[in-house]
Amino acid sequence: MKKLFVVSAISALFSLVGYAQTYPSKPISLVVPFVAGGPTDRVARDLAEAMRKPLGDATIIIENVLGAGSSIGANKVAKAAPDGYTIMLNHIAMATMPNLLRTMPFKIDSDFEYLGMINEVPMTVISKPTLPAKNYKELVAWLNQNKGKINLGNAGVGSASHLCGLMLQNALQIDMAAIPYKGTAPALTDLIGGQIDILCDQTTNTSPQIEAKKVNVYGVTTSKRLTTAVLKDVPTLQESGLKGFDVSIWHGLYAPKGTPTDVIAKLNNALKVALKDPDFIKKQEALGAVIITDKRVEPAEHKKFVSSEIAKWGPVISAAKVYID
Ligand code: ASP
Repeated sequence: MKKLFVVSAISALFSLVGYAQTYPSKPISLVVPFVAGGPTDRVARDLAEAMRKPLGDATIIIENVLGAGSSIGANKVAKAAPDGYTIMLNHIAMATMPNLLRTMPFKIDSDFEYLGMINEVPMTVISKPTLPAKNYKELVAWLNQNKGKINLGNAGVGSASHLCGLMLQNALQIDMAAIPYKGTAPALTDLIGGQIDILCDQTTNTSPQIEAKKVNVYGVTTSKRLTTAVLKDVPTLQESGLKGFDVSIWHGLYAPKGTPTDVIAKLNNALKVALKDPDFIKKQEALGAVIITDKRVEPAEHKKFVSSEIAKWGPVISAAKVYID
């Protein structure tokens, strides 16, 4: 009996080793839980391109699984086969969802393997082009004059734009009607078209539109000004008077819990190679993103950081009293 157990354990070990050696032998699906063409999707497409080579010219297919501020896509990945062929790129929603969703369909800490962090991305507060306010002071005056009529777009409860919008409303003490989209790509289109008034979104999405003067920009959400050509002259919200306002969105890679350790190591190694790829760095930095170069590229540190972010955003979100069932 004992002998049989040892034999089957050894053959399981060999098949696992063989599995990792041949991985990947078919296309990898990279789930993006927001709309194609938006900021999360943009990071994912650039990253997939940079991770292909270190994975032996693997095919990485982006799968946009939309809705509910990323929880639908995250749930799909949490329940997918843990074989390395379904992975996910998600942002700060991994820390805001546990604070915002009354019932979580999955567990952030025990349903995923953490593969490492990618970057941090500041946000910008922008408006439709026809909004007459030309700077932050004028924006606040306009918001005060239009109370009860202001539409604020977001990418669903728990999304980065939702979090930033909540913080803005709290800081200004002005309520705005939240208009949810399945990602901020369509929200930005509607903002340009004047269907919504205000949006707080990642620089990776807004920089091209700010540069083309298709929207008005009022501030960046980080404590320091940015250095990109498009945003270097835009004041921080803190400078404009919103003391303590500091939001930066981060992105990380995840796999379903139980993905073989060697496969996790291969994916983490490919991520580290991608984060040093000059082409990837250049594209990301031009849009205001900062590539992670510290220990958070390691799975254990990535997981620790997500836990600290869950603890950080809990009080902010409960102060805003917004939940979804
Ligand atoms: N910018 C979105 C958000 O607010 C995500 C996206 O559309 O990619 O979370």
